[in-house]
Amino acid sequence: SDKEVATIQILMSDTGGGHRASANALRDAFNVLHETEPSRYPLPIHCDIVDIYTDYGVFPYNQYVAAYKFMAEYTFLWKWVYESGATPLGLWMYDFVLELLCFGTFKECLSRNPLNINKNDKRADLVVSVHPLCQDLPLKILTSLDTNGISRKEGRTTPFVTVVTDLGGAHPSWFHERVDKCYVPSDVLRNAALDRNVNESKIVQYGLPIRRGFWRFGADYSSGAPEKQDEAAEMAGVHHKPTIRQQLGLVDLPTVLIVGGGDGMGGIVSQAKAVGERLQKLAVSSSSSYQMVVVCGNNKSAQATLSPPQMQWGDNIKVRVEGFVNNMDEFMRASDILVTKAGPGTIAEASICGLPCILSSFLPGQEEGNVPYVVDNGFGCYKGSPEGIADTVEEWFASTATTTEGSMLERMRDCALTAARPDATLDIARDLAEMLYARRAEREKGTKERAPVAAAA
Ligand code: UDP
Repeated sequence: SDKEVATIQILMSDTGGGHRASANALRDAFNVLHETEPSRYPLPIHCDIVDIYTDYGVFPYNQYVAAYKFMAEYTFLWKWVYESGATPLGLWMYDFVLELLCFGTFKECLSRNPLNINKNDKRADLVVSVHPLCQDLPLKILTSLDTNGISRKEGRTTPFVTVVTDLGGAHPSWFHERVDKCYVPSDVLRNAALDRNVNESKIVQYGLPIRRGFWRFGADYSSGAPEKQDEAAEMAGVHHKPTIRQQLGLVDLPTVLIVGGGDGMGGIVSQAKAVGERLQKLAVSSSSSYQMVVVCGNNKSAQATLSPPQMQWGDNIKVRVEGFVNNMDEFMRASDILVTKAGPGTIAEASICGLPCILSSFLPGQEEGNVPYVVDNGFGCYKGSPEGIADTVEEWFASTATTTEGSMLERMRDCALTAARPDATLDIARDLAEMLYARRAEREKGTKERAPVAAAA
């Protein structure tokens, strides 16, 4: 029957890996809720995840993904675009021109029913945006659809929520006063939403939606998703490091993990070389050994440069070089220190794993605020040069060897776990599922009330 599946459309664009990752995480959370708590979440929820700019934007909007990759390399360009788009005029202009060029094509997107499920429902029961540029126009279109073209401002009945996937800073275009709910991961972003006139009652703060592997270490969801947090360290799997290392084919040694973001950007080769050299020296001087894992993401040339035969690391340290990995949760849980660019997803994941961070770079604008997020929460620092990163790795490992009670790394691990929000994805999904069920119930009631009139006519 047509009541068997509910639909949520998730609007995003593949500018950076984080938006789709968050959308997929929410999709998985809906599935887990339905499978493990069927009495509370009886309807399966189908997520229609769409890169609305690539698939429905007209030129040049359908070129965002390539433009973003380009600008992420030439950050001065990115900085200019980001900052001019954050002024009142820039914000207004963006929405104005986008509406002018894409109202019709975006409307096709918001009207679509890709699986042709629920033949009576032409479109999604609820719309979620996980992207800073998917608020204003989709809201106008939904209102227009709900009011049969009478209004673009008032009378929307399809719920619309924003789930912010940035962490310590966010572009003002994330926040729109007409959304029904706005999910933010941090105090800074809560204030940013308030500054943009989002009503306090609409702002909900759980955390970033993160992929399932990071939700809860060793949790068994088959008997229902647990509601309360377990003992934090246990949850992060920090006592399971030797086992996880073994499963990954790593050695049980102090381990530094270097990650270059989804696309492997951010000078990963020079960082790995500097850290590798330093660990060699440290190994000799302290007659112990260390391990370095380098995850190059999609950066094939970095992977080749850092692997044999091009690179020989010597016998004093163990080195593992990977391309794109799908089990980042395991690699993080196997490590003691993370070196990464200041991506929001990666930082939130590291925090859940109790992993101290050395931030090596950030995109001006939205990633800038992630540096104070990490520093103020006490689980890391920013070092812009390979030498600075190597110095810090040495300092942190040395402190472990010398202090007896609570080494620097242990203190930072505890701070990371305090800041962690491993339940955020399920919390957000629960809220959205309830909103969706309420909306369907309302609509059914409306149909029933209208039905006799229609019959009489
Ligand atoms: N990632 C991954 N495998 C890799 C490299 C990265 O799964 O080999 C993931 C990482 O765990 C994180 C995401 O890619 O979830 C990167 O997101 P982030 O928000 O840190 O940065 P973005 O790429 O969105 O700028």
